[in-house]
Amino acid sequence: MAEAYDQVKAENEALRKDAERYRFVRNPIGTSSPLAIWNEGKMPLFSGMADAVVDEYMAKELTNKGHGHVFPRHDGVKAKCGGPGLCAECAADQQAKEASHD
Ligand SMILES: [Zn+2]
Repeated sequence: MAEAYDQVKAENEALRKDAERYRFVRNPIGTSSPLAIWNEGKMPLFSGMADAVVDEYMAKELTNKGHGHVFPRHDGVKAKCGGPGLCAECAADQQAKEASHD
């Protein structure tokens, strides 16, 4: 029990440190930090706008997984696997999709 608590506490501290790093970078005006969230070819992003853009790109990144036949990928890529009829991974995606409609 104490061991599990120590593990959760250590994980919490590591996550807290990551969150502090993110907040430091997303709000450089308050901290005088020379660091900022950068969107290639655009202005640096701050505060809520940084959160929104990071969230949007993270969500897009999540959709760039799998073979693209059953769940379309944001990048439009489709694997040359033949789709659900020929590919076990695509068949599993198909089953998951059909199960989610119940
Ligand atoms: Zn496939």
